Amino acid sequence: MTLHQRPGDDGAAPAGPTSSAGIQKDNQLWLEDGSIILVAGQTGFRVHKSQLSRKSAIFRELFAVPQPIVSVDSLEGCPVVRVPDAAQELSHLLRYIYDGRSFIISTTGRPDFVKPTFATLSALMRLGHKYDIPEAIEDASSCLQSYYTTNFDVYKRLRQRDLVDLLFELREEDLDADAIETVNLAMLTGKHSLLPAAMYRCCQIDSDELIDGVQRPVRDARTVHLNADCIRLCRRGREHLIKACGRVLKVFGLLESPVRCGRCAPVAKQEGAGSIHDIELQLTTDPLELMYGSDALNALCSRCQTSMADHLAAQQRQIWCKLPVYLGIDDLEGVEMVAPSPLEGMDWAA
Ligand SMILES: [Zn+2]
Repeated sequence: MTLHQRPGDDGAAPAGPTSSAGIQKDNQLWLEDGSIILVAGQTGFRVHKSQLSRKSAIFRELFAVPQPIVSVDSLEGCPVVRVPDAAQELSHLLRYIYDGRSFIISTTGRPDFVKPTFATLSALMRLGHKYDIPEAIEDASSCLQSYYTTNFDVYKRLRQRDLVDLLFELREEDLDADAIETVNLAMLTGKHSLLPAAMYRCCQIDSDELIDGVQRPVRDARTVHLNADCIRLCRRGREHLIKACGRVLKVFGLLESPVRCGRCAPVAKQEGAGSIHDIELQLTTDPLELMYGSDALNALCSRCQTSMADHLAAQQRQIWCKLPVYLGIDDLEGVEMVAPSPLEGMDWAA
């Protein structure tokens, strides 16, 4: 915990009107009866010591240090504490402290509720950890979990762009950077259940890019980096996923066909022979996406198509359950994959 307390702007000159002049009052969190002013960057938040201390032992300790009164006039008699956090991020944490979980989760189905952005949740996870506010981490991670799920069926719905149950606002162009940040946040806070889906996404990022970091295209042009250990895990994960992809493709290419009907068996054989040459070209690190839009499937009768699709789905469920092993995170607490199998008793499985 390193909070840099700086009574004046630079800690050198005696504080006075000049040092406080640069502070901009936050629009929402400048409370008239607030008892302390937190300053992040150029933004001041006038808030209640008691409220912050009640939620966070770190704030409690911070406020226990006697604070010099900086310019009674311009700062309205409140002590000023400078913190090294980004103003926007601190604003999210303070709003969470005042509004509770309804700041990010629609607890009463309010029609005017706006889903939080990834940036808001990320700030709550990071600062919730820094200021020791476990509820903030819990609530923010449960929102992230609606996307970085451990449930295969939920994952599949999300991949098919069914986003109704998503608890935050997703930005397509940020998905790679978000995945990296989610891995880092999960490692920081111990919310390991976020890891499998987030790391799976990281495995889809080009290796060089993963090492150099991924730049956010819009928000603040920041480059996000995965830590070296996780890069290693993702590298190993990619190898496992490519092998798994090969195993799925054998069936996908009808080489190991579960097709039973008399009409389709020869078709399957022929299609399979044709596609054997393509398998290497089709190897990717994304075996969970393979089942959609196959020409080979279209050549089969509808019953055999269903059998094939079910068989492939069953294989992908297995891959899903093995993700923690592939990614080298199966020994971490909280990493439990869910992939209910609706396919038991299918005749092709005999
Ligand atoms: Zn058939």
